[in-house]
Parts: sequence; C-alpha cells; structure tokens
Amino acid sequence: MAHKTWQVIKVRYCEHAGTEVSMEAQLIFPADFLPEQAPRVVAHRCSQALTCNLDGRASCVWAGTNPNFDPFAESDL
Ligand code: SF4
Repeated sequence: MAHKTWQVIKVRYCEHAGTEVSMEAQLIFPADFLPEQAPRVVAHRCSQALTCNLDGRASCVWAGTNPNFDPFAESDL
C-alpha cells in the first residue's frame, strides 16, 4: 500500500511571521512491491500559512494573499 507523508524541504526566517518557517512537501511513496520507484510530490505548504491567513495582512504566495512574493524562492546568498 502506498504511504503519504509531509516532509520539510527548506527552512527560512520569515519576516512577516517573525520566526523560522518551513516549506513542506507532501510525498507519496510507492507500495512495497515497487521499491525502485521514486516518491511523487503532490503538494507544497508553508508550516505557518494558516496563521498568516488569520492575521489580516497580505503576506506571500503560500498564504494565498500575495502572489508576487515567495520567501522560499529567495537565494541562499
Ligand atoms: S505563509 Fe509566507 S509569509 Fe506566512 S509564514 Fe509562511 S512564508 Fe512567511
């Protein structure tokens, strides 16, 4: 049977939230009889997106309130 789970793929400090937040990907791992098949990525989310949606301010693409700003897309430099 396939296995579905959320995994952290990036961690960033978010100025809007004032704390470190994580980008998470939802992965579906294949059933045991297909062990060499790679997991499928089916969704992404920010760990604090729900809180951002409740504070009444425009924030970023992951909260759905500002499609022009993605804190996780910024360079690591
Ligand atoms: S949803 Fe966007 S603004 Fe809100 S905590 Fe996550 S990265 Fe920051």
